[in-house]
Amino acid sequence: MKSKMQDTIVLYPSPGMGHIVSMVELGKLILIHYGHQLSIKILLITSKFWDSPVVTDYINTISKSYPDISFHRLPPRSVGDHPPRSRHAKVFELIELNAPDVLQALQEMKETCNINALVLDMFCISAHTGAKNLGVPVYYFFATNAACLAAFLYFPTICKQYTKPFKDLTNTFLHFPSLPSLKAIHVPEPMLNINDPAYDAFLSLCINLSKADGVIVNTFDELEADAIKSLEDGVFVPDAPTPPLYYIGPLLAATGGKQAARHVCLSWLDRQPPESVVFLSFGSRGSLPEEQVKEIATGLEKSGKRFLWVVRNPPADANLKKQVLNIVDFDLDAILPEGFLERVHDRGMVVKLWAPQQEILKHEAIGGFVTHSGWNSVLEAVVAGVPLVAWPLYAEQHMNRNVLVEYMDMAIPVEQRDDEDGFVSGEEVERRVRELMDSEKGKELREKFKKLKASAFGAWGESGSSTVALATLVKTWKRG
Ligand code: UDP
Repeated sequence: MKSKMQDTIVLYPSPGMGHIVSMVELGKLILIHYGHQLSIKILLITSKFWDSPVVTDYINTISKSYPDISFHRLPPRSVGDHPPRSRHAKVFELIELNAPDVLQALQEMKETCNINALVLDMFCISAHTGAKNLGVPVYYFFATNAACLAAFLYFPTICKQYTKPFKDLTNTFLHFPSLPSLKAIHVPEPMLNINDPAYDAFLSLCINLSKADGVIVNTFDELEADAIKSLEDGVFVPDAPTPPLYYIGPLLAATGGKQAARHVCLSWLDRQPPESVVFLSFGSRGSLPEEQVKEIATGLEKSGKRFLWVVRNPPADANLKKQVLNIVDFDLDAILPEGFLERVHDRGMVVKLWAPQQEILKHEAIGGFVTHSGWNSVLEAVVAGVPLVAWPLYAEQHMNRNVLVEYMDMAIPVEQRDDEDGFVSGEEVERRVRELMDSEKGKELREKFKKLKASAFGAWGESGSSTVALATLVKTWKRG
């Protein structure tokens, strides 16, 4: 008699530490809630592009600590001698090169285990059709919010309405059903230029999302009730049914890594009064030009408020600004206004390069957060109950900003110069920091975030919305 094959969920993140960590967290979540009960195992397919000792160490640690999570490493493939292309086109192409390897891996796995689902991160679309042909159900893990998913599902419809590239439509707003309008120049970078090969890949991504067996979204019902309702109404995929959607957030990535000692900024926060400090951080890639760094310093100094600010080195290559992980040591004094650090030493702290953001946000001294509006940062603020000033820089952050400010009333906006840099003046920094920390609006937001914090924990309660959604998803997988 043939023995019953092991039920397995295969997760396939795109290259890069952040994507791998998020998928591992999803795997852990499935195991914690249902792994033993339903005897499910998790297998991650990971590419070797951009592999680093940090990635290898991480994979080894997870494999040792979680026996039910294993990894299948794809062979490295060479891109060859192409003319230079955009960063995003390269990402899609690198993943495409591994498509036959993924297919082969799935075929081999099917000999020994039962693949209940393949969960792709949204850049890994090249594995979609092959997996479907093998009879494997295909799901996507959408790491950002429901409103953004709605906009992505609607992009194929919007794209049909324009012949010019979005980057040239400087005065045009794109209109989505029941969502705030978006300036055409604020679409995610791969969509800006119709001649960039990443444009077609991104459009395919949006179309594939609508064809999936399901999309897993890192949000929760109580946070995005309106967007979730509109998605249920099916207005974003006009000619077909909206795929089943599972809201299983907040899922927070364990970004801290190994920490030898408590970060010095946390000891500094211990000495500050409750809710008195504004925290400023611009994500993993938020590297601001020197001129902008100086303006922030001036604004913070004039605001008179306590602050904790993570400063990255300014971009080395002006054309790649904000796009690359730019964590290289640098001389802080050289980019700040002269004498700034001495003048603010009794109420401000500047951390170079990287700070333990999740721990900082949870510290009782933090009263507000100036953020680039990356979705992980927003969820971390929700879980910590800290209100926001939204200052978008790249990727889908302008959409997040619009949704946070105009749709959910969760953030104070900053006024940005209407150019690619989105420059913000020192006066504006001062004004918005004061508004966040001192005004009636700031107070209202603080109260709102306290309620959101409670509902975030509620979502993972015994019969909370995210617990129920995850249970439904895993049952669907088990039924096959
Ligand atoms: N982060 C951190 N310290 C820093 C900067 C960022 O721990 O100094 C973490 C932050 O907590 C979050 C992630 O990096 O988990 C950034 O993710 P997000 O989605 O907000 O933005 P992205 O970097 O993807 O643009």
